[in-house]
Amino acid sequence: MMTKTDPTPSGTMAAVPAELLAHHLKQLKLPTILREHEKVAREAARDGLDHVRYLLRLVELELLDRERRVVERRIREARFPAVKSFDTFDFAAIPGLNKMLVLELARCEYVARRENVIALGNSGTGKTHAALALGLAACQRGFSTLFVTAHALSSQLMEARDEKRLLKLQAQLQNVKLLIVDELGYVPLSQVGAELLFEVFSQRYERGSIIVTSNLPFEEWPTVFRSERLTGALLDRLTHHVHILEMNGESYRLKQSAGRRRPASVEQNTPPGAGQDAVAAPAQDDPAAPSNLPS
Ligand code: ADP
Ligand code: MG
Repeated sequence: MMTKTDPTPSGTMAAVPAELLAHHLKQLKLPTILREHEKVAREAARDGLDHVRYLLRLVELELLDRERRVVERRIREARFPAVKSFDTFDFAAIPGLNKMLVLELARCEYVARRENVIALGNSGTGKTHAALALGLAACQRGFSTLFVTAHALSSQLMEARDEKRLLKLQAQLQNVKLLIVDELGYVPLSQVGAELLFEVFSQRYERGSIIVTSNLPFEEWPTVFRSERLTGALLDRLTHHVHILEMNGESYRLKQSAGRRRPASVEQNTPPGAGQDAVAAPAQDDPAAPSNLPS
């Protein structure tokens, strides 16, 4: 029987070198070299590259592709509901937000320092968008990330507890470098859910970053956690090393739908080729537009 390491895929000695090479490259998991080596060989011959430079070019291509695949995997594992970046974030729409701070956070040094970010503001002001964009930046810079809503996370924790796999889930949550907890406050938590969520936050204290988005100011968090004492202890930890994003303002959603209702809208006065950042990507709220593509 042919084993996995059998150098001759056809089982005969007659396999031509190209086939053997393809087989070995697959075994070594070098898909880019496999795909590119003939093309790069033609280029190397054309440019008069010696064999070391030829090999170097191939290996560099493999490395670049590998890094891209790793980032893609990190993004998949982060479970973002949509991939959004700051390229499509219109800072002018939310003048109260400290743009310099946001761009600084996008460099992700706070993740390395295990600090937290809290985005607070009313509905539709781009909190989730900003959290997704920070999450994407973290994935691109090599930090494992997980995005989850507060409600889903507390449900998952309660389910895990009932099924006696709470420790395992807690360990998984501890393992990610950046945990994004979206929409804290939209749905009140059950008492057990609140306590389990508190435990996650408390276990991450100074060990891993958290981004929280909430429509509620801190004073109202006790209504979510059902306890002044628990909320106090939680805020104490969460806000010890924290960057606050003030995101109160006009709802971007409402503004956009109001814009759509107006037939001759201001957008028509926008000069062609105006900066992409200034154009608010109207396709994003279009139900026909795929939401999981980079925007
Ligand atoms: P929130 O989480 O604060 O309720 P979202 O982030 O879900 O708001 O924003 C609602 C919609 O509006 C999303 O499609 C988001 O991409 C878009 N949006 C909000 N603010 C901005 C902004 N400043 N620039 C571009 N898009 C925005
Ligand atoms: Mg949101």
